[in-house]
Amino acid sequence: MEHLTVNPFASLAYLVAGVCFILALRGLSSPATSQRGNRMGIIGMTIAVVTTLVTHVPTLDAGALDAVTIVEILAAIGIGAAIGIVTARKIAMTDMPQLVAAFHSLVGMAAVLVAAAAFLNPQAFGIAENGVIFVQSRIEMGLGIAIGAITFSGSVIAFLKLNGNMGGKPIMLPGRHVINLGVLAAILGLIAYFTQDQSPWIFWTVTILSFAIGFLLIIPIGGADMPVVVSMLNSYSGWAAAAMGFTLHNTAMIITGALVGSSGAILSYIMCKAMNRSFISVIAGGFGGDSAAASGEAKEQRPWKRGSAEDAAFLLGQAEQVIIVPGYGMAVSQAQHTLREMGDKLKAHGVRVKYAIHPVAGRMPGHMNVLLAEANVPYDDVFELEDINSEFAQTDIAFVIGANDVTNPAAKTDKTSPIYGMPVLDVEKAKTVLFIKRSMGGVGYAGVDNDVFYMDNTMMLLGDAKKMVEEIVKSLD
Ligand code: NAP
Repeated sequence: MEHLTVNPFASLAYLVAGVCFILALRGLSSPATSQRGNRMGIIGMTIAVVTTLVTHVPTLDAGALDAVTIVEILAAIGIGAAIGIVTARKIAMTDMPQLVAAFHSLVGMAAVLVAAAAFLNPQAFGIAENGVIFVQSRIEMGLGIAIGAITFSGSVIAFLKLNGNMGGKPIMLPGRHVINLGVLAAILGLIAYFTQDQSPWIFWTVTILSFAIGFLLIIPIGGADMPVVVSMLNSYSGWAAAAMGFTLHNTAMIITGALVGSSGAILSYIMCKAMNRSFISVIAGGFGGDSAAASGEAKEQRPWKRGSAEDAAFLLGQAEQVIIVPGYGMAVSQAQHTLREMGDKLKAHGVRVKYAIHPVAGRMPGHMNVLLAEANVPYDDVFELEDINSEFAQTDIAFVIGANDVTNPAAKTDKTSPIYGMPVLDVEKAKTVLFIKRSMGGVGYAGVDNDVFYMDNTMMLLGDAKKMVEEIVKSLD
């Protein structure tokens, strides 16, 4: 806006912060550089916050430093940081998806509150003349509050579903597509009308409808698709922040919002592709349910072989090459440290040990990479699906630990399977498959049986992943 003086140092600082965020994203793309990436993010955020405080506190513009405002801001930062530190230290890796959902709800609510504050006091934000809000700002505000409110209520539902406070089953309202499209059209129509008429009722109706549509959009989506939804809401929260960045004339917020918005959208796309689901079908909802409900189904009785930890240790010790396939169960039982110990012992026995990571193993992208990195598994031993899949055929043992769907050959052969088309790890091609899970009844996320359990060359190791690996490690001595 022409009436706002732009501090050139602030613009420069925001640019530096933006570069830090880009470097942070780049660093986070590999476990080897992720800590550096995180540090870049912290530096960027510190630069952005300090610059905003120094240049955008209205009382500073007037020349006088309002001690009360500064104390309030510092107290808010202190409380937020304390909550963040305690949560980050306490959270279990398996609860990470719901934590991310909870954080997104806060971003959404922040966008709503900023938009509401700007609407109620536009003069202070420099977005109005004589009480008339600029048209451009009305569009930014309307979009900001709509996306923010959708992100908030959608993320709250995603949190409740992931945290088990609400069933994972899709809740299908009759005629929901018509209702959703109607509400979305009403929101867009009202934002368009808001550019002509800044009456409060329009603004607040957009807000209420947006809270409602966030709720309506997410309840029909089943637990299985929730991680995609979380990533999609992550993307929304980025766009909401970017819209508010325009309202607040804050370049750092625009850059950060656009980075979060686009990276979240790309991540959702990658997840959909790895699960062989179309983005539209995820949004339309109705896929997946409670795994407990799914496991209750009567299953075909087929013969299978059970082995003990000692049997497994004997076979592993004889192998030339072992490929370890971790999945959600490894995360649940926190078996990664013991697993690394097993890998080290096998290496000491002269066995070649590799880890195969499926892009959607676990419950969030990078889930397995993070856990293996936490357990100090060497990065050079960790391979992505496309780099290792051809090796199973020349491998003595595929050691599957708490993975299921990502090893299911039905994805390649059974057109009726819900996971048909999803790329899977070819564990069945290994000479022997050792398969750790707690019971034959338990199913993976997609709720389907796995032919690998019943193959001649498979030995089922039934029990908690961590306990089983601990026993194998003992037997390897
Ligand atoms: P999965 O198919 O969910 O299977 C998990 C396996 O772990 C089950 O066989 C379960 O059997 C076993 N298990 C659970 N707790 C265990 C414990 N304490 N000890 C030993 N075993 C345990 O897991 P996955 O192969 O990793 O596949 C991931 C699934 O999540 C895919 O369907 C994927 O599409 C979906 N998903 C992932 C993402 C992502 O971003 N990663 C996103 C969306 C969806 P028991 O109950 O018998 O033990």
